[in-house]
Amino acid sequence: MGETIFSKIIRGELPCHKVYEDELVLAFLDINPLSRGHLLVIPKEEVATVDALSDDSAAAVGRVLPRLSRAVMKATGASAYNILQNNGAAAHQAVFHVHFHIIPKYEDAGLGLEWNPLRLESGEELASSIAELLSDKEPETLARW
Ligand code: 5GP
Repeated sequence: MGETIFSKIIRGELPCHKVYEDELVLAFLDINPLSRGHLLVIPKEEVATVDALSDDSAAAVGRVLPRLSRAVMKATGASAYNILQNNGAAAHQAVFHVHFHIIPKYEDAGLGLEWNPLRLESGEELASSIAELLSDKEPETLARW
């Protein structure tokens, strides 16, 4: 994967309003927030989408998401929030380096959602084909297939 603007932020070559950093993770304020307190949480590993992320980076991000969410809620006074994570241009990803948005929801600001649910069809077949891919294989093999 090529570099993105987030690589420069990780290296400190571009400024950001950093709120948290450890060996594998960085979190900072979004430059165009949907609402006050909108945070981006990124692995330092340079991959575009979650399916390409190593288990170590995924675990490191997952470990801090609850803590970061608590801090954002406390600092802003918001009582609700969304965690958004886009993978691929068709899914509205603009920066091709994995990132999780923490977006406080206020009465008048936050994430707007258009949610048009379908009826589940062939659920059994679909669930078993996904489950089959997840069984019988080492996680590493599955991750690179
Ligand atoms: P995406 O649509 O890829 O999920 O969201 C990318 C996010 O990155 C957007 O919310 C955008 O405002 C944010 N962003 C893009 N460039 C920068 C930057 O240079 N600094 C910061 N702090 N946020 C950025």
